[in-house]
Formats: sequence, structure tokens, C-alpha cells
Amino acid sequence: MIEMGKSPANPAKKTSLTPKAIIHQRFGDKACYDVEEVQDSTQNGCPGLAISQKGPCRYRCTLHLLETTVVSDIFKRKKDAEQSAAEKAIEKLGIRQEEYNPTMEEAWDDLAGRLAFLFSNEFLSSLHPLSGHFRSALTRQGPLYGCVPVSVIALYDAKISNICKYINPAAESNSLLVMSLVLKAAAKRSDLVLIPDEQLALRRRDPYQPEAISSINHELDSGKSIPLEVICIPASLEKAVERLMLNITTTGCYLDAIACELGLMEASYVQISRTIGKASSEMRIYSSAPKKHVFDDFPKPQVKQATYFEGSLNARASYFTGQEIYGDAILASIGYTWKSTDLFHEAVSLRLYYRMLVNMIPSGAYKISRDAILAAKLPLAYTTKSNWRGSYPRDILCSFCRLHHLSEPVFSTQTILLDSSVDLLGSRKKLKVTESRNEEKSVAGLATASGDLVGSLGPFNCEVKIYSKNQESVIQCSPQESHRKQNDAIQSAALKVLSWLNIFIENPEMPLEKLISLGEKYDIHFTPGCLFKQLEFCHSVHNSGTSMSQTCNDDAEGDELSFIEIGGQNSGVTPSNGSLACISYTVSLFREEDYMKEHLESCEEFEFEIGNEAVLPYLEAAVAQMAVGQSAYFRVELPPNEFILAAAYDSLATLSLLSSRNCKLECNITLLQVTEPLEERLEQALFSPPLSKQRVEFALWHIKESSATSLVDFGCGSGSLLDSLLSYPTSLEKVVGVDISKRSLARAAKSLHSKLNGLLDSKESMSKIKYAVLYDGSITKFDSRLRGFDIATCLEVIEHMEEEEASLFGNVALSLFCPKILIVSIPSYEYNVILQGSTPQGGQEEDPDEKNQQQGCKFRNHDHKFEWTRAQFEQWASDLAERQNYGVEFSGVGSTADVEPGFASQIAIFRRREDDPKNVELGDDHCLPIWEWSGERNEKHPLKKP
Ligand code: SAH
Ligand code: MG
Repeated sequence: MIEMGKSPANPAKKTSLTPKAIIHQRFGDKACYDVEEVQDSTQNGCPGLAISQKGPCRYRCTLHLLETTVVSDIFKRKKDAEQSAAEKAIEKLGIRQEEYNPTMEEAWDDLAGRLAFLFSNEFLSSLHPLSGHFRSALTRQGPLYGCVPVSVIALYDAKISNICKYINPAAESNSLLVMSLVLKAAAKRSDLVLIPDEQLALRRRDPYQPEAISSINHELDSGKSIPLEVICIPASLEKAVERLMLNITTTGCYLDAIACELGLMEASYVQISRTIGKASSEMRIYSSAPKKHVFDDFPKPQVKQATYFEGSLNARASYFTGQEIYGDAILASIGYTWKSTDLFHEAVSLRLYYRMLVNMIPSGAYKISRDAILAAKLPLAYTTKSNWRGSYPRDILCSFCRLHHLSEPVFSTQTILLDSSVDLLGSRKKLKVTESRNEEKSVAGLATASGDLVGSLGPFNCEVKIYSKNQESVIQCSPQESHRKQNDAIQSAALKVLSWLNIFIENPEMPLEKLISLGEKYDIHFTPGCLFKQLEFCHSVHNSGTSMSQTCNDDAEGDELSFIEIGGQNSGVTPSNGSLACISYTVSLFREEDYMKEHLESCEEFEFEIGNEAVLPYLEAAVAQMAVGQSAYFRVELPPNEFILAAAYDSLATLSLLSSRNCKLECNITLLQVTEPLEERLEQALFSPPLSKQRVEFALWHIKESSATSLVDFGCGSGSLLDSLLSYPTSLEKVVGVDISKRSLARAAKSLHSKLNGLLDSKESMSKIKYAVLYDGSITKFDSRLRGFDIATCLEVIEHMEEEEASLFGNVALSLFCPKILIVSIPSYEYNVILQGSTPQGGQEEDPDEKNQQQGCKFRNHDHKFEWTRAQFEQWASDLAERQNYGVEFSGVGSTADVEPGFASQIAIFRRREDDPKNVELGDDHCLPIWEWSGERNEKHPLKKP
């Protein structure tokens, strides 16, 4: 591996043009750099050692030019790879790279010479971002005729800035210094160039040759006057950012029009920022320049920049540019380019302004990438690539760093070698570190128990480091969780940093200690001084006038659920955690007193992962209770204004509504489709009837055979078993469901409620059910209300717990709950070869990544904490039965016992040996009844908590 000793782009160290700059001079936009990431192959982990060498991300760049294509060496930093590619191209094409290594005197001569060229006759009609300014100067009137602002010359010519950087490296980041150097050089060529007394401008001493003028005259004559939409950003945060119409002529000096709006006399008093956003952008901030005398002996040592300017620091404008901007400012997208002699100009609407603003914070960047500013939210976790929508966390983090003038984040992945001879249980042990983190579900994984997808078994983990431009460490995130795929590890780590940054930005009041302890939860260490310096304007800009945190951090589960109105036929197809919901939605601004409405955002098909808080909390809460085909309608409190204005098409109408106090967001959604998680899709495709149905039939057979009158379903989820049981005539009179997922329970309550009431209405119903209840609680803890049932089921639940918890459940169930019969099912690990050898049939597009995931994935579902072989399961169940004085037999569904590899789902049936349940010490009941039904008609709404 070849590494360059130092960054070739560093002007302080190497003063000639960088290879990239040389390529740019020659090829302009036609040079196309393509950077790819390469895996470091120098892993020399020794067998038996769990940790291999670190393999950080490295980059290789391919440069496509018209004549040729070259590939760089491999580097740690993207920009080094690009420079290396450019260097190779220069070598290959034989472009003579003359070392620019003049004496100071020669450099000054070069600078003066370049100025002389810019003011030459031939430059006037050339294609150069600066020549348009020279032409438009000829349309200026009176003493301004032919005057070109120094700021323009200092900014738009690469050669000038390169020579200035050579003369004084500080010129790289100080535009005033470049201006002062240009003025000094101009003074040397007073034979050619004049410096008018009153202006910060340069003018040609002698008139241009008539031919030079006439060659551009036809162009100047065709100038049109047009209104251009720009944005005014007042220095005072109290004053609102406003839209402004600027009248410009396409051939005139547009800087004069901007000067006029800023209350300045003419163009040369305007200070121009660097470009904002993309490299090709012409978007800049215009403000007032320092007075001319400042340049007389510039720079004065120990004088702060602020003293050169009039007006106070403009936080919003400074935030956008990463430069200090003083006084009121104008944001406009206008300028001359390499592409054409015509003036380029584009409207900057208020909506665009707010979209740019919002794009600078992590959650906003995610919203923008989904084009769902009011619906989407930065998800809690990166579960799988196939479930992620919108920009990837890593990309958002990279653009965050770019926008905040930080270095590119450095990701280093580490491989934990798994010895293939170690069995599953053994290899899990190595990763025990991850277990302590399971409590932090809201941080590291999904909020609900059935959805904590992160931190699962896998050989990769990833660390992220963020440095400032001067290589001070700002943030370091070292998550412990490991992942099956390297990309998952990288994305998860990036998402952690983003989530933490987001909380930091949204909560300006947060004390430092709190921020530090929050950082610990996210495995983040940071250097407060550096972080605050880098993000110094963030808080004042994003929190001016609005509180960001109100609605953003709201918990999805609360009484708000009762506001929601759901309508339409219940198709029975409901989403569960990990599935993808596809909705259509509309969001409007709504004023209660007069029913005024303003449309803000809508989407025909919007997909998101359930259980990952990837959308507005209310929206997810609503969808979790809906069935495909149903629609819902609700109103919620407003998010911060900046989000509303970033979404609004009609800013004026929106602003006028927002100025009245009692506005709400009104949301209308329709659930169009639900795509099940991988496991369910596979099971449905491969088994007929589907495995879940086979499990229900299995339970039904045992209910009938035992004439059970009471049943408890441990880990009932969305109630699929209870619901199905109700469709058959049985002896059951009392059914109970227990789960720890409130969301699943809400769905279970909804469907059981309507089903039971339906049965009550129908005369022929054979149902004997008199009482049903759903409890919110863990099945590993005692509750007297779960004791002594005829039959208990626990289908496909324990593999979602840690193994120790599963054992705890076994003991609690048989020694405290003491059902006559307990049916426990779990997936059979040995059957996975069959599942993973085939792809689901029917409809699902072939996503190669998803397939890989299946193959790389040992378990059927990313939420599974373990899966057992037949031998492991039988051992567990037999030991348990023995301890608790139960008998046990084994069975299963999907395939048969005598054909290898046995059942797809293995089942243990425990039978109590004693007639009466043991007497036990009773503890306190912990379960919360969240829904209750009794044979009498009841009016209780299923969703209201008692
Ligand atoms: N039995 C259902 C659901 C299986 S999914 C069916 O066959 O369709 C697993 C369920 O177990 C999830 O709903 C999850 O919330 C629940 N669960 C996991 N740990 C639990 C615990 N300690 N107590 C109660 N339920 C739990
Ligand atoms: Mg499962």
C-alpha cells in the first residue's frame, strides 16, 4: 500500500497548484472523479484469536477524463485518493507540471501580471466566471463605468487565489486578505489599472479597443430586465427571514441591485461569501464589505475581524457559510459560470431557504431525503438495509460534517473472527458485552420488546471519529454491538452519532453533564470545547422563535391515541414490528376557529418500517392499529415553524396562518399495504397452510382433546392465536393474553373486541366465551391472575428473549402459573438450511441484498436471540419438566419428525403431574389489564386505558 506522506492539498506545506487544480484548469467539469471504498485486506488475525486487525475504510479513486481513465492508489482519506488520481493522470497525459516556486518578488509580478491580463481587451469576450463582471461593468453609469469590485476579482479567479495563497497562506481562509493583496498588486500596475478613490474597485486606465467593445455590444444590447426571488436574512434574530424581489438586468451589474437592497451605495461595497451547498452551486450570501481604509494597512495584527465591519454578527448567515458575516444579508443564487457567457440566476424561495436550514441538522437531512418533512423522522435504529428508506446514516453524517466544516468522518470497522468449530451457544458468549445494552432499547434498538433488532450476533463492529479541519478530535463513537454485515455496523454507528447530535441541537438548554451522560448511552465521547465551537451558531439559528423539542421527542404511546379516528373495513391485514407499512398521506395546516386550511405535504406511496419511530409518533401509533384499506384522521400540535415552512409551497399563506395562535397539523392517512418481515414471508411462501395457521391448529387440537375452559396465551403479540381460536367452536370460556408490547396489544384488543362483539350478535354462534382480557406485562414475572389455567400456550416467543430469561420463564410458568398443559413452540435451527436455500415465492422482487442477508443470517428473524437444534430444545424442556414435576413430549409443525431435518417449528407439550397446582408464596401482581371484555355488551372503547 502506498501512502502519500502528507496531504497534497495542504497549501501551507505545498504551494504550487494541486494536481486536482491542474486537471481542473485543463478539463474543467469534464473531469469526473469516482471514489470507491475498498476493504483493507491486510487482516492477519491469528486463528483462535477473536479479534483481528483493524480494517479501517480506505478509498480508491478512478478519474475519468475524455482521453483516458486512471485509478489511484489506496488512501485513508477520499481527497488524497482524488489527488493521487489527478497526479497519475498528469503523468500519463504528460501534462508538464511546472513547479510554481517563484521568489516573493516574482509572485507579486505574477499577481500583477494576472491583473493586467484580466483587464486586457481579449479577456473581455472570453468565457470565464469573471469576464461577465467585466462586461457588465461597462453598463454602469457615470464614475462607476468600467469599475469592477475587488471582491469579485479576489473571488472568481482561481489563479489569483492560488498566487495569493503562495504569498500568504492565510489567504486560503481570509477573503479580506486576498482583497488587500489584489489592491497592492494593482498599485504596481498603475500604468494599466486604476483604483478609484471612493470605491473598492479596479478600472482599466485606458478605454478598451473599439473592436473589443463591439464584439460584446450585441450581447449587452439583448439584456432583459427580470425580477429575481432572493432571501433577506436580517442580522437580528428577532427579525424574520423574508422573501425579496430583486430587479436585475441580465447584462447589468447585478451586484448594484444587491447593494441597493442592502442600503449600500454600489457594488464594490458588497461582501460576497463562498458558495453554499454543492460545489457547482452559485448560491452565496451578500452583505456589506468593510470600509476601504481598512485595507490601507491590512491585516492589522491583533485586530478582530468584527471591528472591520459595521453591524452585528449575523448568526444565520454565518451558520450557512461557515464564515463570519456582519450586518443584514441577502441570500441569492446568481453569477457567471464557465459554462456560458450568460448570467446564471435561480430563484431562492423561502421554502428553499428553510429546506437548506433544516438539511443542516440530522433529522432534517433525513426528512429532506425522504421528501417527507412533516411525516418522516430519523429512525431509532438501522435494522436491515432492505427496511431502510431515505439517505443512509453514513451519507447523512458525511454531509453533516461537510455542512459544518468538519473533516469527513472516519469509520473503522473491526472484525471479530468467529471460529467455525465453536457451536452457536459458545460463539454467542463472546458477544456477551452486547447484552447489558438491551435495556437501552430506545437508544440502541427498537422501542418495543418484539422489535429490538440491533446488537445481534455478528462479526463486525465499527467506530466513528470526527475531526475538525485542524485535526482536533471532536466526536468519537465506539459502539460495542456487533453486526452480521460490515455495512450494518457502519450505518448503525453513524446513526448513533446522528441521533445524539440531533438531541444536542434540539435541546439548547441541556447542561453539559447531561450531554456527557447522554453521550455515554450512545457510546460517544466528545471534546466539548471543539464541539461547541464547531456548532456555535446551530442553537441560535435552529431555536430562534420555536422550540424544537416539543413535538419531536414525544413518546408515541400515550393517551393521544384516543384522538385518532379510524374508518373503513377491517381487512385483517395488520402491520407488526419490523414489517414495512406503505401509506398515502396528506398533512395540512388547520386553524380551528374558522376551519382555514393550507395544504403542506402529501405522498401517494410512503413506506416505513413499523416499530422504528421512522415517522411522526402519532402517525406510527395510528398505523400500528390500522388494517390495510383503512384510513385514519387526526390533529396534532405543530412542529417547529422551520419544518412547516420547509414543507409549505405557499409560504405567504402558511405564514399568515402560522401567525394566529390556534393552528394544528391535520393528518389523513390510508394504509395501502403491509410487507411482512422476512421470516413471515418465507413461512407463508413455503408452507401450506402457513406455519402460523398450523400452530393454531395444533393448539386447537389440544384444547379440544383436553376440554379446556380457560386459556392463557403467553406472548400473545397481536392476538393472532386468540383471534383464530374464536373462529372455532371450543369449550373455552375464558381467554387471556399477555405481552410486553403495548402496540401489539392495542392491535390485539382492537381485533378481539370487534370479533367478540360480532359473535355476540350472531345467533348461531357456538362460542362459549364469557370473558377475555389482555394484560401488559412480562411473562417472566409472577401474577396471580395467570395461575391455574387449563391450558397455556407460548408460541414462537422465547427465542425473542435471552436464554436466561427463557429458562426463567419456564420455571415461573411451571412452578407458579401451573397450567395443566403448557405448549411451547420455537423455530428449529436445523430447519433453517431449507428456509434459507429457497427464496420466497410470489411477488417479492429479487433484492440481491436481501438474499445475501438471508444466507448470511443464521437465524430466521433478526429479532431472534437464539434458535435451538432439536437436541438443545429437548434438553432444555426435559430438564425443566423434571425439575417442576411435569411430563413432556415433543412434536412440531411444518414437515414431519421422521424426515430430516425434522419440523420447522418444534413444540414441547408439558403436562402437570399433580392434580392441583402447588401452593406458592404470592407476590404482588404486576400486569396491567389494558382491555377487558365480558359476555355482557360493553361500551368500552378498546383503545382507552382503564
Ligand atoms: N405468539 C405470537 C407472537 C410471537 S412474537 C404469535 O405466535 O404470533 C413474540 C412476542 O413475544 C412479541 O409480541 C413480544 O412482545 C413478546 N415477548 C417477548 N418477550 C416477552 C416477555 N418477557 N413477556 C411477554 N411477552 C414477551
Ligand atoms: Mg419468532
